[in-house]
Amino acid sequence: MFGFGKARKFTHTTDVVVLGSGGAGLTSAIAAHDGGAQVMLLEKSNRIGGTTAVSGGVVWIPCNSHMAEVGCEDSRADAMTYLRRITEGRTDEVLLERFLDAGPEMLRFLEAKTSLRFAPLVKYPDYHPELPGGKMGGRSLEPGLFDTNELGTWKDKLRRSPVFGGTPMTVTEATSWGVFSDPLKLPYAELGKRYKQGLVCYGGSLVGRLLKALLDRKLEPLLETAARELIVEDGRVVGVRAERAGTELNIRALRGVVLASGGFEWNAELVKQFLGDRVTHPNSPPISDGDGLKMAMSVGADLGNMGEAWWCPTVNVPGETYDGQPLNRGDFSIRSLPHSIIVNGRGQRFVNEACNYNDLMKPFFDFDPVAYAPRNRPAFLIVDAQYLAKYIMVTAVPGMPTPDWIVQAPTLTELALKVGIDADGLEATVKRFNGFSEEGVDLDFKRGLSSYDHFYGDPKNGKNPNLGTLSKAPFYALPVQLGAIGTKGGARIDEHGRVVHVGGRPVPGLYAAGNVTSGLMAAGYPGAGATIGVAMTFGFLAGRHAAANGG
Ligand SMILES: Cc1cc2nc3c(=O)[nH]c(=O)nc-3n(C[C@H](O)[C@H](O)[C@H](O)COP(=O)(O)OP(=O)(O)OC[C@H]3O[C@@H](n4cnc5c(N)ncnc54)[C@H](O)[C@@H]3O)c2cc1C
Repeated sequence: MFGFGKARKFTHTTDVVVLGSGGAGLTSAIAAHDGGAQVMLLEKSNRIGGTTAVSGGVVWIPCNSHMAEVGCEDSRADAMTYLRRITEGRTDEVLLERFLDAGPEMLRFLEAKTSLRFAPLVKYPDYHPELPGGKMGGRSLEPGLFDTNELGTWKDKLRRSPVFGGTPMTVTEATSWGVFSDPLKLPYAELGKRYKQGLVCYGGSLVGRLLKALLDRKLEPLLETAARELIVEDGRVVGVRAERAGTELNIRALRGVVLASGGFEWNAELVKQFLGDRVTHPNSPPISDGDGLKMAMSVGADLGNMGEAWWCPTVNVPGETYDGQPLNRGDFSIRSLPHSIIVNGRGQRFVNEACNYNDLMKPFFDFDPVAYAPRNRPAFLIVDAQYLAKYIMVTAVPGMPTPDWIVQAPTLTELALKVGIDADGLEATVKRFNGFSEEGVDLDFKRGLSSYDHFYGDPKNGKNPNLGTLSKAPFYALPVQLGAIGTKGGARIDEHGRVVHVGGRPVPGLYAAGNVTSGLMAAGYPGAGATIGVAMTFGFLAGRHAAANGG
């Protein structure tokens, strides 16, 4: 029916075919295997792990069993209240409930069946901890460190982070060492030793352990194998056509195909159609091309949340690349530290710079109907010499010469002229902001009021961990780009991870999980790890259901 003539032969037969080796795909493959299915996992790129491998590796699961162990309270009712608010009534409650029930189960399953052991991040608050049902810590968990030597010949096939790769530390260590506020005090000799030894952290550790679990099951992923289209017979997805080194594979999937191929942020056409100009600098590796989304569309999948992404303010160092594309670095912390502000072309602040990266971007999309132009773009991060004396700003390290690519000037007015900002506006904004900094209270945007803001602030900074004057020359400016750590729109799924047809029924034989699906969190972001937490939970459900029921 879909590009597959009856005369063509299947080259392989298995029970479940999983497309993609990120958090969703790997978890799905393990769950399907342990559910008694034969599994094949196809990965388009030459590395295992997708965006998950370059991520922070944090997983957000409310009511996880580790919270009680460290004295963090939670309840299903609180989690549901919080998620209702974060998702603004846009998500089917059946799916939210399924996530709350199956998330802890997924963690227990992985901890019982793999070497993964999650540690709750007691000091990492939800992204809106003060909202009803929000928590001050414990819902976000981390996977710790992983020794890549355990992967044997697969060691070099693990995707590495271009940013976190060289300093293997746990999130708990990073927090207690003051990775943002005291970057020069990190134990670099120890980190260097760990790196040489082959240890990885964050997403590399999460994926490393999941990959190890696959290999322990004698299940070797097929790298450089791109799924091209679904094979459909009598309205049921029965397999996949894929390409590997110029050879065509026609794989029959007796129990189901799981789409776990990530988002579409690197597909310029899909971005143009669904997101317009709101994502120009994706933070993920250039592998999220929307292949799975298009496959789902080809069999009539219903779509949801297509206009949303996991937004993230982004900075670019000219010349830095990753996998042949510009490396777009998400700014998770720079803008939260004292002595920094973000301003628009009029030199005005327009957002609490220290709020979470997803929500921070929303005012970037404001549109001025009279000027018929974005109100807050272009935008610039402005810092002063006090900032660079204490904190790392991308590649600018305290005590080292400031890199040439950062625009600097001896006065705010000269800086404004250099980058094209209204100089009077900038001077007035800084004067007002400096007053707030002296008092420790941001009357305009409440920066530093939420405990979330403090997590990325400087605890040693007097009255407010996030506020400090911009008063010492020189002054510096960096353009803030429109980034995303992934897209959030895609195929709608049901509570078993089955793809839902536009007609409302499941598409027989087809499952999906992760960023290829319609994002559970709608426009919101409840806490660190919510993208991978949801991806792994629905990957787990899909793999298990496919193995047991065959779609
Ligand atoms: C710097 C950074 C930090 C982040 N930190 C966190 C964090 O700490 N916690 C969190 O929750 N989220 C975090 N995120 C977001 C998170 O990493 C992603 O949302 C998540 O990993 C997506 O998982 P996935 O399994 O859907 O896709 P991916 O992990 O991207 O995996 C998809 C895989 O499918 C493969 N693929 C694509 N097309 C095909 C095809 N046709 N055939 C076969 N294979 C295919 C891709 O090559 C890729 O390997 C971060 C992101 C970034 C960029």
